[in-house]
Amino acid sequence: MTSVTPSEPDWEAVRRSIRVRGVVQGVGFRPFVYRLATEEHLAGFIGNDTNGVIIELEGSGRGISSFLRRLRCETPPLARIDSVTTTDIAATGESSFRIVSSEVVGSVSTGIPADAATCPDCLRELLDPIDRRYRYPFLNCTNCGPRFTITRRIPYDRPQTSMSVFPMCPECQGEYDDPLNRRFHAQPNACWQCGPRVWLETPQGASIASTDPVADTIERLLQGEVVAIKGIGGFHLAVDATNEAAVERLRQRKHRYGKPLAIMVRDLDAARAFCELTLEEEALLQTPARPIVLSRARSGSDIARSVGPGIPWLGVFLPYAPLQHLLFVDSRVNALIMTSGNLSEEPIAIDNEEARVRLGNIADAFLMHDREILQRCDDSVAAIVDGVPQHIRRARGYVPLAIPLPIETLPLLAVGGHLKNVFALARGGFAYQSQHLGDLENPTGLEFFEHSLVHLSHTFEIEPQIVVHDLHPGYLSTSWAKRYASERNLRSIPVQHHHAHIAACMAEHSLTNRVIGLSLDGTGYGTDGRIWGGEVLICTLDRFDRFAHLDYVPMPGGESAIREPWRMAFAHLISAGFREDEARELTGASDQEAHLLSRMMERGINSPLTSSLGRLFDAAAAVILKRRKVEYDAQAAIELEGVAAREADARPYLIELHQAVRDGGASVVLKLDGFWRALVDDLRRGVPLAGIAAQFHAGISDGFIAAAANARNAMGITQVVLSGGCLHNRLVARLLRAGLEEEGFEVFAHRQVSPGDGGLSYGQAAVAAAILEVEATRQ
Ligand SMILES: [Zn+2]
Ligand SMILES: [Zn+2]
Repeated sequence: MTSVTPSEPDWEAVRRSIRVRGVVQGVGFRPFVYRLATEEHLAGFIGNDTNGVIIELEGSGRGISSFLRRLRCETPPLARIDSVTTTDIAATGESSFRIVSSEVVGSVSTGIPADAATCPDCLRELLDPIDRRYRYPFLNCTNCGPRFTITRRIPYDRPQTSMSVFPMCPECQGEYDDPLNRRFHAQPNACWQCGPRVWLETPQGASIASTDPVADTIERLLQGEVVAIKGIGGFHLAVDATNEAAVERLRQRKHRYGKPLAIMVRDLDAARAFCELTLEEEALLQTPARPIVLSRARSGSDIARSVGPGIPWLGVFLPYAPLQHLLFVDSRVNALIMTSGNLSEEPIAIDNEEARVRLGNIADAFLMHDREILQRCDDSVAAIVDGVPQHIRRARGYVPLAIPLPIETLPLLAVGGHLKNVFALARGGFAYQSQHLGDLENPTGLEFFEHSLVHLSHTFEIEPQIVVHDLHPGYLSTSWAKRYASERNLRSIPVQHHHAHIAACMAEHSLTNRVIGLSLDGTGYGTDGRIWGGEVLICTLDRFDRFAHLDYVPMPGGESAIREPWRMAFAHLISAGFREDEARELTGASDQEAHLLSRMMERGINSPLTSSLGRLFDAAAAVILKRRKVEYDAQAAIELEGVAAREADARPYLIELHQAVRDGGASVVLKLDGFWRALVDDLRRGVPLAGIAAQFHAGISDGFIAAAANARNAMGITQVVLSGGCLHNRLVARLLRAGLEEEGFEVFAHRQVSPGDGGLSYGQAAVAAAILEVEATRQ
């Protein structure tokens, strides 16, 4: 406890109790309030409790008003104030201001902050030769450092973190105890004397003698070696991004062949040298979450060609841990690949022993440290889409921040989708999404899911009473959810995939009324048992009707049609009325392949019907770019967008709307016969591919805008909500929003969760909350 004596009062003292909710614990909020209160000559106290912080202030009315104003505008960088409520109470004659120790009682609603990048003050100390933490790889303060990834469980206090095994030296302890110090209650506080350390190892686990392991790591990287570097949320595999042979070697060893790799660069200036950054992208790069930002690559830079083959974008991010900053102190290091330490599609390695086993055949050396990572957390990936930040992979820096729900709910678990899994826990007015978990079908994927579930449910003390899952009977998450529910005798609620997408975006914008939802997606299980994905839905949060959809086409070979887009192209062309020989020629299929596919589709063998827009993108990429096979998810669509991206004002290929005889429950079908005919005509006439690709994108957008206008005429709804994995496509996102606004619609797009399957669990939670509310009001 600390105290100061305010000046002698010459006014009648007032006392107020102030409750602050939001992200206010573990982010330097109490010392900030202490400083404000003393500067305003106010007495009283501040303490953490389970709902945030509680402050009592006593002093002049003017001082309290000034305090409240400054509380809002001088908030510490990592804090977020959601609400401030004040109550007048009786003055007690108190004469000093105190920070009272936190006592955790009852249920928790504040939890753990997200990990945050090294702040400017710490960075200055890191590079200052006379500072006692000069070049110390683990310095941090209340404004920065690891949080979520080093915490075992709440309350967020040093004994509950992996820093518990590092007793603080007297100097660090002094900082930790001083309310006016930047390191007051900075749980991971450490220095050279008392904190974690780094060392180098061979892939066989023998330590390599070195007086400066960081400098030696730099030499190894510059020689083209692959070095596994232990970070904040897991191991990275690092190589020099300007060394073609080294990048190629990393790809071979990691079994990651076509998928683009992200690069880490020294600072914003360096990022500008490699990418054509917009102002929004620059701002996003520098946020404390430090996501990988997908931006347009500058041509002619030194980056190895194999970093992002075939696409005009480059994932770039800035150092966010002191250890990473130290790698870039050497001016010879300009850009490093820093990719997740895993074999393709497996969860990222976090434990030293685990890393030795799993990465021993990939890395030439390991830069280890002895601070345990308790929560696996990949780097987040984001992009500026249509002028605003959009999550592609929401993980480090964002998790476990709460996302508000428009309807309060019983404690529930929503298990998400299948690939790129993210689950959500929800209670009351908030949902908490897990970090990106990857593919569940991977042997270690389900383990990661279950471990993370145990951790997050402890963290937020949420014991689910309801389990929410996708309709798809074949999803691993669905069977897991059903088993989990039946073992615990819990109710389970299925939610249709594309309804969940739209609900996620509605919930972000607190929309609970009826809207038109454009759910533009890869694949999701429909209520008719077919594979949906190009859907116009009329949605409330609790239910939906299917108003329109892309015409069904077969997916010859099922899943293999996703990996081999030429199959989808063949199916689309045949469905659009092209002859088999034409479809064969346009897709580059052999006689045998064409023959086989035709027979499969005719007889309906392994050819499920789909209305997927993602598959239409694949088909178009196969025809326009001759892309026969893909090596990673959405590759064909990403390449097609890359070709088209800079073409403006394209004349759209026309999608016709046909009134359906309640086909699959919908009243309108988007027909593609004329669309494909026009596209193929242009191709045959030798129109440049960039123009064809642009007209394709414009046609898609116009088709769905027309369908939305149809829905408005029929239903009188003027709000359109955009979701689904296809909204990652910047061109489609921009054309749709612009076109819909021109038509007089109010348009809503994602801000807080991914429009892709990463956002699904949040949407599932919102739907379940709405269903429960409807049931409760009926009773
Ligand atoms: Zn700091
Ligand atoms: Zn110390």
